[in-house]
Amino acid sequence: MQSFQPPRRILMGPGPSDVSPRVLAALGRPTIGHLDPAFQELMEEIKGALSRLFNAPGYACVPLPAPGTAGMEAAIMNLLEPGDRAVIAVNGAFGGRMVDMADRAGAEVVKVEFEWGKPVDPAAVEEALKAAGKVKVLAFVHAETSTGARSDAASLCALARKYGALSIVDCVTSLGGIVVDAAAWDADVVYSGTQKCLSAPPGLSPICLSPRAQAAIAARTTKVRNWLCDFNLLMSYWGGEGGRTYHHTAPINALYGLHESLVALFEEGQQAVLVRHARTYEALAAGIEAAGLRYLVDEPHRLPQLNAVIVPDGIDEAAVRSYVLAKWDLELGAGLGPLKGKVWRIGLMGASATPWHVRLCLTALCEALAAQGFAADAKAALAACDGKLG
Ligand SMILES: *Cc1c(COP(=O)(O)O)cnc(C)c1O
Repeated sequence: MQSFQPPRRILMGPGPSDVSPRVLAALGRPTIGHLDPAFQELMEEIKGALSRLFNAPGYACVPLPAPGTAGMEAAIMNLLEPGDRAVIAVNGAFGGRMVDMADRAGAEVVKVEFEWGKPVDPAAVEEALKAAGKVKVLAFVHAETSTGARSDAASLCALARKYGALSIVDCVTSLGGIVVDAAAWDADVVYSGTQKCLSAPPGLSPICLSPRAQAAIAARTTKVRNWLCDFNLLMSYWGGEGGRTYHHTAPINALYGLHESLVALFEEGQQAVLVRHARTYEALAAGIEAAGLRYLVDEPHRLPQLNAVIVPDGIDEAAVRSYVLAKWDLELGAGLGPLKGKVWRIGLMGASATPWHVRLCLTALCEALAAQGFAADAKAALAACDGKLG
């Protein structure tokens, strides 16, 4: 064997996003014990920073030791017991994953489906809640990464409250890219991942739980089915000042990386980070349209950090991605499920949301399209993009 040397890539797919040199440097610092007092200080800082970032005062905030999917699984497995009813909105791949998990938890699942590319319609969810009777959980995806559609988390969490259900909000792609506000939404469980807009490597899932959610978990009559993410056990590790006991071994160095990405985020400023995502999206959108391409999602419901662009007739979707990877070291995302072969997914997440990334992506994409005979005007695309960047 030889040491693995990864190629240099520019990551503009649905995640992971580019990891900054300062976060990569943090990952390589010396490993210490997970019960070391210095590490416990780091844990406390991360908890505090996550609470600020989710705006979740009074919530329990921790980074789970596995990628975003672990946050989803923890939320569902902790809140749902066999026989509980859950209403789950599905407008893309990740809503579908939630349904599968809730089913595995033994819950009775009411699925409310929407066309891929559309946001979740709160009126349809309210109909389902009305018809369903007693509902334990309402779950939905805030930022559906498979399509680039943003749903109205405030309205959906309010519906959960109105019908006496706990809300689970998937903010894997939204956190750090658009406003996430657990307190204002009065949300119950909100989770995310490190590899999207936080721009740390994949492998951790920040999660926060409201006092209501914690009480519901404490009141369970059956054990949580998966041990690692059982919140009752987990909090004895992450929770108590001084009283910390062994549960699992925290991924020490991965947490250095998350910590550094949070330091960078607060240094730049939470508001400034959101503005940067919005601005780079506007520049990309102007360029995409000037190049003669169209978006999947209607303008008011678009996520700045995930841009699903429709593949024009006669263009080989995969060949374009292969071209930009080979010639520009640029990774773009493919469509999932019903959108396979029909869209490209362009991520502007975290450290990948810069004017440089937008210009590079437009240049590379136009070149790849031209290679297939599609007359994408790169000059016009860049001019439109620069017009937005000023
Ligand atoms: C990426 C993503 C996940 C899963 O996160 P992983 O880090 O891939 O496990 C869940 N939900 C949404 C909306 C995502 O974009």
